[in-house]
This record gives sequence, C-alpha cells and structure tokens, in this order.
Amino acid sequence: MKKEYTEFIKECGGLEFPNIFFHPGAREISDFGLINHYKMIDGVRVWGYPGIHFGIDLGNSHIIKDGYINHLYSPFMFEKSTMVYRYISMIELFHKFGFIMKLFHCNPKWVELELLQSGKEIKKGTKLGLIGNYNAPVNETLVHSEIVSIDGYCISDFLEYVLREKYGDTNFQITLNDVISVYRKCSRTLFWKEDQIKKDYEQLRLDNNIRLLNKFKIIYKDSTGIEKTYYSSKYLFGI
Ligand SMILES: [Zn+2]
Repeated sequence: MKKEYTEFIKECGGLEFPNIFFHPGAREISDFGLINHYKMIDGVRVWGYPGIHFGIDLGNSHIIKDGYINHLYSPFMFEKSTMVYRYISMIELFHKFGFIMKLFHCNPKWVELELLQSGKEIKKGTKLGLIGNYNAPVNETLVHSEIVSIDGYCISDFLEYVLREKYGDTNFQITLNDVISVYRKCSRTLFWKEDQIKKDYEQLRLDNNIRLLNKFKIIYKDSTGIEKTYYSSKYLFGI
C-alpha cells in the first residue's frame, strides 16, 4: 500500500505537490479551522465571531470574468464525480485513496456539468469550469473546497500518511493560546475574558460535534453518529 502512496507523491512532484493545479493565481479568502467568521443568531449570520470553517475559500475578485485566473482545474485523477445544485451547489470528486474533494458555490452554467454528472473518471488537469458565487455568503466569487474522508471512514490512510511525513504527529488539540488569539482578531469578541473565551469555544466544539480540531484537521461526528475527518488542503497539498 505504501508503495502506491510514494509513487503517487512522486508523480505530483513530491510532498509539496508542486505539479498540481487547482485554482491558479487565487488568493486565500478564508482559512481552515477556527477562524474569524460568523455566528448564527436567530437565523441570521452575524459576522465578527469565531466560527469553524471546514474548508478553505479561494477567490480573485468581486467580478466574474472569463479569465485564466478564475479557472478551476482538477488537481488529481478522480474515479468519479457528482454535482448537485438547488439551494447550494456542490461538486464531489471521489479519490481512490479514500477521500472526497468537495467544491461549493460553482455555478452550474459555468462548469463542465455534463462531465461532472456523468459518473466517469475525471483526469488530472481537467478544466472543471469557472468559479462562481452560487449561494455564497459573500458577494465575492469564490470556491469553498473541502477535503473529507469517505463515508464510513474516520480517516483517509493516505492523507494521514502525507501529514505524518510532512509534519509528524498532527493528532493534538488546538492550544488555548491559539484559541484566544483567534478570539482577539474578531471584532465582537476582541475584549472577552479568558474564561468567556474558553466557555464559548467549548460550546462551539459541542455544537459542531467536534472531537479534535487543529490547523491540519477537524474530526467530527456527522448527523448519523459517524466520525469523519476534514483536512486542510493547504497543509496537505498547498492548495
Ligand atoms: Zn468557505
């Protein structure tokens, strides 16, 4: 099994994955994990509170342009894909190493919809389409991408292997100091006392069924009671 992993990593140019394209030229809009985000208060998004972000947002501008910089490419070969869009728009790309890449906010009109819904394999480097802002919480065009273990598996052995090779042990909780520093960056929690921060963060973890959270991964229990792991694509693949 490990030989398969090392061969794949070699094909991608090494552990920094320099030979993969996803959204070239994009800038990071929101990072993964505990971030300056929003709280839902009476069904309304109130920005300026810490929140848990299960993916990374990348984008370029407020304007939707058919330019190179707004293009999305498949970073890997995926065995199959799906795309659904109604209230939200979600593309799922299934990798043979036990993980799914999920892309949100793409507009069905601006992507290779037929291919994405065909169930056929998606080759590495395939142009998937343009980023959009289909039901995005902000005006900006962006893609929210998530890397998550496949249904029924708490982890992806391959992703754990990559993390271990690059960073050693990544199974630890975020430190209280790091939690406090996020609260200090949020306009509505800037002056909260340490006790209040501790209590609020614990509640945030409980509300989201999170067992472990740090900058590399979030392990949480879904609505059916099964644990899954969300991974930071930035620390894994630099995307
Ligand atoms: Zn997002």
